[in-house]
Amino acid sequence: MELFDYMQEHNHEQVVFWSGKRSGLKAIVAVHSTVLGPALGGTRMWPYKNEEAALKDALRLSEGMTYKASVAGLNLGGGKAVIIGDPAKDKNESLFRSYGRLVESLAGKYITAEDVGTTVADMSIVHQETSHVTGLSKTEHGSGDPSPLTAFGVYRGIKACAQAKFGSDSLANARIAVQGLGKVGYDLARRLIEEGATVIATEYDPKKAEKAACELGLQLTGLDDIYSVECDIFAPCALGAIINDETIAGLRCRIVAGSANNQLAESRHGDMLAEKDILYAPDYVINAGGLISVATELGAYSTEEAWAKSAAIYDTILKVIQLSGDEQIPTYMAADRLAQARIEMKERELEEARALKLST
Ligand code: NAD
Repeated sequence: MELFDYMQEHNHEQVVFWSGKRSGLKAIVAVHSTVLGPALGGTRMWPYKNEEAALKDALRLSEGMTYKASVAGLNLGGGKAVIIGDPAKDKNESLFRSYGRLVESLAGKYITAEDVGTTVADMSIVHQETSHVTGLSKTEHGSGDPSPLTAFGVYRGIKACAQAKFGSDSLANARIAVQGLGKVGYDLARRLIEEGATVIATEYDPKKAEKAACELGLQLTGLDDIYSVECDIFAPCALGAIINDETIAGLRCRIVAGSANNQLAESRHGDMLAEKDILYAPDYVINAGGLISVATELGAYSTEEAWAKSAAIYDTILKVIQLSGDEQIPTYMAADRLAQARIEMKERELEEARALKLST
């Protein structure tokens, strides 16, 4: 790929490559934007098929983080790091210490956290080399597991969608299909059932599925059947790219709103949902609770404020839907516009401040 062309086109500020001589670490940090604040984003460890795939992932994910932070109203930019390696085989202390030194070398421009393939325990090793890490355990004075806040934000976002689509945000008689009963999906299903919704769910791990059915009283369905459950709301809380050419045809819901990242296989699938009159809650807007949670560690606001910010996902989703209606564009595009508008506003402020400084 033509790296500099891509960076120009997508407004990336910086990409750093790091090769640990002794540790064997191969890492890439992509700083997409620091306009709103330091670039926060997790570290993904994955056995990428080649270096280009790793680079593309870092570039794509870091841009997504900028949009997520912006639309959530956080004073944070977007970044993401990838470590090329198999999390099941290649992890060791030396690797994460080396990675910590890389993060430290960026002097706070990039702040890391756990992501796919890395854990809170890995971040604890990284923390030995740098203070620019969030998502630490509560024993290390971190914010702990972000999932409860993510689930709460998704719940609030679902209510906003119901308000816009059905004229009431009560979920008391709603039928909701939940895909994935992991940390977020389980907690979300609990909240929905507490409000009186009927939840039909699927889960890859039979033990988790049975536990949830038993504890929460939800109905279970097959892994592929979830896409065609007749329901008001489909809440994907497992995998990305589940809204695709194959699944869209079978959907029998009126809203898609869940926690999974990158739900649309391609942007055009967001257009297809709109054409089918299915309201889509853009994933990075509705699942921002996790980012809000880890951001508390930066000291900008308290845990109570973090819950309030996650509750406000309700209003942000309504704003996205409003813009989508006003401009006659799909919701995913409306979310991007809101995110860009906040960044552009900040850029104008910075330019004005610079001009003022020069004139004095
Ligand atoms: P998790 O790993 O705890 O749960 C995911 C669950 O999905 C697992 O139980 C897994 O067995 C199940 N699953 C996998 N494939 C499945 C399939 N085909 N059908 C049904 N179930 C399947 O993860 P999580 O933390 O609950 O996150 C869920 C989603 O939300 C992920 O996409 C994640 O990236 C996203 N997300 C999570 C957070 C957070 O705070 N945890 C924040 C933002 C976004």
